[in-house]
Amino acid sequence: MFDVENLDYPALLEAAEAAARATTGRGRVADYIPALAEADPEAFGMAVATVDGELYGVGDWEQPFSIQSVSKLFSLALALAYSSDGGAGLWRGVGREPSGNPFNSLVQLETEHGIPRNPFINAGALVVTDRLQSLTGDASGAVRQFLRRESGNPLLDTDPVVAASEAEHGHRNAALAHFIASHGNLRNPVDTVLEHYYAHCAVAASCRDLVLAGAFLARYGVRTDGTRLMTRSEAKRINAVLLTCGTYDAAGEFAFRVGLPGKSGVGGGVLAILPGRAAVCAWGPRLDQAGNSVAAVTALDTLTTLSGCSVF
Ligand code: GLU
Repeated sequence: MFDVENLDYPALLEAAEAAARATTGRGRVADYIPALAEADPEAFGMAVATVDGELYGVGDWEQPFSIQSVSKLFSLALALAYSSDGGAGLWRGVGREPSGNPFNSLVQLETEHGIPRNPFINAGALVVTDRLQSLTGDASGAVRQFLRRESGNPLLDTDPVVAASEAEHGHRNAALAHFIASHGNLRNPVDTVLEHYYAHCAVAASCRDLVLAGAFLARYGVRTDGTRLMTRSEAKRINAVLLTCGTYDAAGEFAFRVGLPGKSGVGGGVLAILPGRAAVCAWGPRLDQAGNSVAAVTALDTLTTLSGCSVF
């Protein structure tokens, strides 16, 4: 048994890795963005960054992978942090309810008049990227710069091959963006929004990079250098939306199994937050039917189940 007050992260990571490796062969590597299909299906890594500055990792925890939708956590955080109205305007253009539909669905957007259900489905993330573009003039650059600063990894960058592959096969995202624009809910040209959206999704980063960059949420809004990115209340809100909407159409199952706010991506990464304690990231490219990594969810499930440590 683990002491919930004093977690033995190396032992927990070892147990989580063993459970994740036992899922070998389950799930499929995403191939709708062809460049993603080249990932090694058996790769697995996991890392923890505590609020006290400790860092632990197992397996391929320092190997970069395509972060994809995990980037949406950072674009949302920056768009909120840089808003001068506490995010009121942003929340008029995007909701915060689970969608109950696939992440790239067009149907719901039509019935809801171009206001996406939440910031983590593709439609919502396009609106967030648009607002971040207006706030910074370089939405994907702002995400990259934040990731580099927090992780201390100056080499972290967009993978141009993945970004180009996304653009080439991005008919559905283009349709979503045009549809949102037709309802007057984009401030920038559709092509600009798509370019920056693909560029932040196509960032290559490791579990190590992501736990360091995501730890501001575990510190209730405080960055690595001790400055405040956002208020404690804003950090709470992001964690809440991560819990309810962060893992595609399986957020209920993820809350049931893992019990943490988290964001997954089709590259197989899942970044989760233990508020007040740590950021945890697991990665394995094989995905379940909802689009979440089989190995990463198993690893996070193991960590919270063995430690008894979750938000519940
Ligand atoms: N860039 C991907 C897309 O738009 C993100 C998918 C994901 O990770 O959910 O399809």
